[in-house]
Amino acid sequence: MDVYGLIGNPVGHSLSPPMHEAAYDAVGVDARYVTFEPAVDAVGAAVEGADALGVAGLNVTVPFKRDVAALDAVRADALASAVGAVNTLDFAGDAVTGHNTDVEGSITGHNTDVEGAVRALREQGGASIAGSTAVVVGAGGAGRAVAFGLADAGAVVRVANRTESRATDLAAAVEREVDDATASGGGLDAIDAWVADADVLVNATSVGMEADVTPVPAGALHADLVVLDAVYAPLETRLLRDAAAAGATTVDGAWMLLHQGAAAFEHWTGEDPPVGAMNDALRAHLDA
Ligand code: NAP
Repeated sequence: MDVYGLIGNPVGHSLSPPMHEAAYDAVGVDARYVTFEPAVDAVGAAVEGADALGVAGLNVTVPFKRDVAALDAVRADALASAVGAVNTLDFAGDAVTGHNTDVEGSITGHNTDVEGAVRALREQGGASIAGSTAVVVGAGGAGRAVAFGLADAGAVVRVANRTESRATDLAAAVEREVDDATASGGGLDAIDAWVADADVLVNATSVGMEADVTPVPAGALHADLVVLDAVYAPLETRLLRDAAAAGATTVDGAWMLLHQGAAAFEHWTGEDPPVGAMNDALRAHLDA
């Protein structure tokens, strides 16, 4: 049996265990997915311990994504290095037995939040990313992953953030790290003008989680937009309601969560992810 899991602190309310175990059941992989909550200063020891124990793969969540990307033992792929955060570790174990090959530096790191956002926009939103103009609201962990992902997929990216310097720094990093990228950054007051001629809009802030509020003025939204809200609790945010009322195509945050999990499953097992079964499990827990 293979062991996969999640390290974070806290991890108590994670939706990843039911989503991944539904995938193992659907494709007949003999595996379990468990959660680990190391102390905040013990993530390096936790990753090395997992490697030594033959854990096959780990997802990484708050507050460890940046710390894990910086570990000597982890080789982050190009996009995860550019984002500066890893959310999926592959211990290069044998997918059948779970025995680790134990080659030094054999732990690879990916950031599947990047793929999660792009796939959700393409597959649920029907968005064509290459050649589009995308507005990303937020420049924290999710904002970085989304901005790099969209630029890498060929969009012109505009980042708007409450703290303007984080947006301009992120835009500069995107232009530096992604070949042929065009990106700019600004404060939240840039949103109205930017959204007017945008094709894609992503909320990558936490605004909308705790209260029924939105970071995007409703009057800025229009019918030619595909709008993804990274917030998945609640599923139907004020931004998505406003976007639907404006005639835009809406994609809720559970689709991004699903596709980041599906991409991790693919890295670990090399198999096509059973997205239908994973989505059913995820939404059963979100709706509960
Ligand atoms: P984070 O690193 O803490 O960043 C938070 C972001 O929200 C920053 O850009 C911050 O702006 C902004 N923000 C916070 N409060 C604000 C306010 N009152 N007004 C305007 N902007 C505000 O968090 P994160 O990890 O990026 O997560 C952001 C959201 O994405 C969360 O809801 C999280 O659950 C969600 N998420 C979803 C997925 C998914 O798969 N669906 C994956 C990852 C994250 P400042 O820079 O000015 O502080």
